[in-house]
Amino acid sequence: LTGISAISLMLNQARIVRALTQDAQTDPLTGLKNRRVLFDMYEDRPLALGTAVAVFDLDHFKRVNDQYGHAAGDDVLRYFGNILLACEDKDTTVARTGGEEFVLVMNNSSIKPAHAKVDQIRNALSQRPVPTQKGQIFCTVSAGVSFAAGANSTLDMLLDEADKALYLAKHNGRDRVVLN
Ligand code: GH3
Ligand code: MG
Ligand code: MG
Repeated sequence: LTGISAISLMLNQARIVRALTQDAQTDPLTGLKNRRVLFDMYEDRPLALGTAVAVFDLDHFKRVNDQYGHAAGDDVLRYFGNILLACEDKDTTVARTGGEEFVLVMNNSSIKPAHAKVDQIRNALSQRPVPTQKGQIFCTVSAGVSFAAGANSTLDMLLDEADKALYLAKHNGRDRVVLN
């Protein structure tokens, strides 16, 4: 191997490793972080006070698939993923944690702005139809929000609390945000 081809081989391998790492960390459908990356970011460390966690779950999504097909359902997931991605910044992390479930973690926040942000995301989906390969589909999302209040809340604990609030949002009619 000449020096130049050794270097180019090395660079190519580095590129492949980067691409594989990216694959393992990213949900291929939406480009969002996956569940594992989100948990790796926080592990079991207590979250700082002022951390808010929101769990989103698309409403009656099974109906969307049944009525328009799985591929159109995927279009809706990608569309909602893009709404979330637009919210990502240095204090805000978003992830697709399951089929039609998404999580947003906000640092340095408090109840009012966190609720406003989550409701703005909910509203961004419900206010206009999603363009899909099967035409325009109206779709809504429910969310539950929880806060790191004590000194010892972990991501796991806040997700549990947010899930309970999400259950109430579903029970109370969907297309709404409930605070825990
Ligand atoms: P609810 O309002 O109570 O959340 O009702 P739901 O129909 O959204 O809830 P349910 O859990 O019954 O259905 C979730 C559906 O999401 C079923 C599953 O087929 C669909 N789903 C999960 N992952 C994907 C995916 O990657 N693509 C598509 N198109 N659908 C998915
Ligand atoms: Mg669900
Ligand atoms: Mg659902």
